[in-house]
Amino acid sequence: MTSLSSQMKTLVAPSLVDFEPYDPKFTSTRINLSANENTHEMPAGTKMAVCEALSKVQLNRYPDPMANGLRKTIAEWRQCDSACICVGNGGDELLFNFLLAFGGQGRKLLNCPPSFSEYELFSKITNTEVVNVWRNLETFCIDEEAALNAASDANLVILTSPNNPTGDVVSREFVSSVCEVCPGIVMVDEAYDEFSRKELSCDDLLEKHDNLIILHTLSKAFGLAGIRCGYIIASPDIIDVFASVRQIYSVNALTQAVAAAVIANRDEYQGVCEDIKFERQRLLSAFNCMRDDGLPIEVWPSESNFLLVRVPDATFVHKRLRDEFSILVRDFSSTTGLKNCLRIAVGTQSENDELIEAIKTILSTNN
Ligand SMILES: *Cc1c(COP(=O)(O)O)cnc(C)c1O
Repeated sequence: MTSLSSQMKTLVAPSLVDFEPYDPKFTSTRINLSANENTHEMPAGTKMAVCEALSKVQLNRYPDPMANGLRKTIAEWRQCDSACICVGNGGDELLFNFLLAFGGQGRKLLNCPPSFSEYELFSKITNTEVVNVWRNLETFCIDEEAALNAASDANLVILTSPNNPTGDVVSREFVSSVCEVCPGIVMVDEAYDEFSRKELSCDDLLEKHDNLIILHTLSKAFGLAGIRCGYIIASPDIIDVFASVRQIYSVNALTQAVAAAVIANRDEYQGVCEDIKFERQRLLSAFNCMRDDGLPIEVWPSESNFLLVRVPDATFVHKRLRDEFSILVRDFSSTTGLKNCLRIAVGTQSENDELIEAIKTILSTNN
């Protein structure tokens, strides 16, 4: 299915007529590096704590609406007050609620693409106008002057750091300037922050700017994409807005229990993140070596758990990886500014070994 039926086009809200049902074309493969998931096993101690926590959940009871137990666990970890935390059904729900609460008809979101496609999707659904300030399409750097100009007239801004799918971070000075000039609310999406250098995070800028929201998720570094849990840190006034528009029971009891158990055992994940960062460097070097050996591949540095590469005929390379090697990566060929780009999540050592060999084979025989 690629578009709504003609009958539905006459029945849905006019702003939704051009919508297409979301279909990520999911195929099951041996190695899946397409969604920036963490492919490492859950650490053993954490796994035991999770099983124990799950066994205690009362499934006949509604979950705590605001997930106050989990909020408290997060607040202690992030060293802030619980009133500064809101939990969501994945970071995605919090992004949607951000657009729902602060966007809408006649209001503007500043976006710096190429970035996470959900920003534009949620803007469309909520009738929010998107003002795009495009990144430099060779370096993917943000045009800071143009962005600051646009921010001075925006109701919402989203900056992604590290950015998906380009892997780069925004500077803290730039985020501060945006918060200063923007009359509206600024969100920094730090879904991949655990993979970047600690001193690059914008968390501590919250003290200086009361119009700033930082978005985090347990889906990436903590390998919990399946439970759907994200959270924001912001001023209590902003949290009150999210508390007003959210689905009351959006974060279910099983998710609340697992998330709290994992956060309590977070020290076990330091090794996992270190390994992913080490493997990211190894993949980057391997791709750069291929280029030095004359193979046609370009790769951008990344502060995240994925790499963006450019290869000739990327859609065909994607297909060969899937069909000949059962390795799935993400093809961004049809996204504006990302012609012939593939996004590859950093997997485990053995997954990455297989990926390197497969890419080498394909690029040597792809003509
Ligand atoms: C993965 C991701 C999120 C949130 O993902 P959830 O699984 O919904 O928590 C948010 N922003 C970006 C840029 C992401 O890549």
